[in-house]
Amino acid sequence: MTERARLSARIAAIAESATLKVDAKAKALQAEGRPVISYAAGEPDFSTPEFIVEAALAATHDPKNYRYTPAAGLPDLREAIAAKTLRDSGLEVGAGQVVVTNGGKQAVYQAFQVLLDEGDEVLVPTPYWTTYPEAIKLAGGRQVDVFAGADQGYLVTVEQLEAARTERTKVLLFVSPSNPTGAVYAPDQVQAIGEWALEHGIWVVSDEIYQNLTYADDPDGVPPRAVSIVEAVPGLADRTILVNGVAKTYAMTGWRLGWMVGPADVIKGAANLQSHLTSNVSNISQRAAIAALTGPQDTVEEMRRAFDRRRRTIVAELSKIDGITVPVPQGAFYVYPDVSGLLGREWGGVTPSSSLELADLMLEQAEVAAVPGEAFGPSGYLRFSYALGDAPLLEGIQRLQRLFG
Ligand code: GLU
Repeated sequence: MTERARLSARIAAIAESATLKVDAKAKALQAEGRPVISYAAGEPDFSTPEFIVEAALAATHDPKNYRYTPAAGLPDLREAIAAKTLRDSGLEVGAGQVVVTNGGKQAVYQAFQVLLDEGDEVLVPTPYWTTYPEAIKLAGGRQVDVFAGADQGYLVTVEQLEAARTERTKVLLFVSPSNPTGAVYAPDQVQAIGEWALEHGIWVVSDEIYQNLTYADDPDGVPPRAVSIVEAVPGLADRTILVNGVAKTYAMTGWRLGWMVGPADVIKGAANLQSHLTSNVSNISQRAAIAALTGPQDTVEEMRRAFDRRRRTIVAELSKIDGITVPVPQGAFYVYPDVSGLLGREWGGVTPSSSLELADLMLEQAEVAAVPGEAFGPSGYLRFSYALGDAPLLEGIQRLQRLFG
């Protein structure tokens, strides 16, 4: 009898999320009592603001939240998301153009499921967040990397996109501010890319989960807006899916509350899929998200300022290490230095030849966790999340200064 494969080829081809894996390893070592400082997961260290928690507590006492609700989301939340989309992305949509998802990840997954047929190509600015390739693959799509390194501020150009375009190109993935690089496209760059996509009939999946986390050069300056591609080029709205969520802006990663916004037919398709996959997101989290989006936004600004302060610290401290090049991020809460200058040299008896080996060495010898570039594209980079407290943030980089000094 021929032995059949135990796992489907589809699932055998995907890997565990590298960001979550490094984070879990760091947390396990911490649980063993090791003083690991982790820059691994993109997760704010702040508590969820109290008024949001209060709304969730009230929701647990309301029996209407104990039952199934519409798979695409509570009508009030879909309204609140539509209002937020107009406020921050400059796009007027009806509540029927919103699906509430179990975190931004489900929105990414569903966006590609709805748009891609076998062999359709997706242009992916590289470095990219570790989950996109797997979501594209699971939808039968073919990822086409468009690489932009530190020398170009991690920002792809229209010329590069055009060189990668083929007959099979269906979707452009657009992420600004970017995870993992923290790069933010300037309004004229967004417009140029949007016009190019419109001209060639290319769909856009725009991940805007970090849109409220941008930073000015001057700590008291007005932060730059991460202009949405549909605001820059309104004609693209009929072929764009926006992905977003409350996780990063409101320190709500564990609440699992994201959404997708798009043209009515696409959203209907995604809602149909979700009705078989997960049904409605927890009503408690949905009620909390209504409070987050419609309540006072001053805690958001406080957290943004704290991230900005930490950004300045980590850029300044990492820059003191010879062999590391640190482009200054303008958004999200990541810094993505080029560490190729540290490779091929001996540190504490080990000579790392890749950023993967360098990350292992840092964890072993300095008890510092960061995610290697291999999780996001080519080797030679490390991603540090600076969404951790000011004191450990500084101490961890000082450990690296000693290790690589
Ligand atoms: N998005 C965050 C990160 O990149 C959370 C972890 C994950 O879901 O990948 O670290």
